[in-house]
Amino acid sequence: MRADGIIIAIDGPAGSGKSSTASAVAAALQYRHLDSGAFYRAVTRAALDSGIPPERWAELTRDEVDALGVGAAPQGPAYRITIGGVDAMEAIRAPEVNAHVSRMAAVPAVRDWLFGALRSAGERGGLVADGRDIGTVVFPDAELKVFLVCAPEERARRRLREQGIDATDTTEIHRETERLTGRDTADSTRAVAPLARAADAVLVDTTGLEFDEQVNAILRLAEHAIRG
Ligand code: C5P
Repeated sequence: MRADGIIIAIDGPAGSGKSSTASAVAAALQYRHLDSGAFYRAVTRAALDSGIPPERWAELTRDEVDALGVGAAPQGPAYRITIGGVDAMEAIRAPEVNAHVSRMAAVPAVRDWLFGALRSAGERGGLVADGRDIGTVVFPDAELKVFLVCAPEERARRRLREQGIDATDTTEIHRETERLTGRDTADSTRAVAPLARAADAVLVDTTGLEFDEQVNAILRLAEHAIRG
């Protein structure tokens, strides 16, 4: 057992509810929550703000990634993401970040830069980390791995509701579904650390589940894993 508890890895496609679920699971267990997607979003935000054209991102060097000034500070049970020392928690959720983040997440220098930071956040355990490659690459040694899936239209409806947009409007649902599945294709077909279910990950389909039900399903798995 690690000093502060087990590591729980939650992976899955865009909009499957990983971060909100991971956060609730972490709160119930009094663990920390690490949202790895937030870091890829922050690098994307910083590159867009610095005017580096997306066509150049694939060639970014480690020094250039460092110079973007993305940082993270523990805040309660989670991490507050900053760019140039300024809080970026809202700015990383903007639509232009959604549209460009998969391109940035495929850049090897960016993944290298983040890998060490994510690994060290897990040194003592007591962590719920969510993303695309947490169970396969970042914490292949996690005591519990969950792969969350959900029907694309349902993911789109949930996303729209979060944004206060009419989630019964079929045109909106169609548009959002295309955006999410476009990101899934980019994330699962890239060469480095693609979105994939680890062989030993438990599949949880949240399509017909209420939020509390999906959190409880993972907590039951966690209790089992903690008992070893
Ligand atoms: O989870 P979220 O939607 O915030 O992630 C944003 C993007 O970051 C994903 O679409 C993916 O391209 C990238 N990502 C990743 N590996 C992770 C987490 C996120 O490549 N572990």
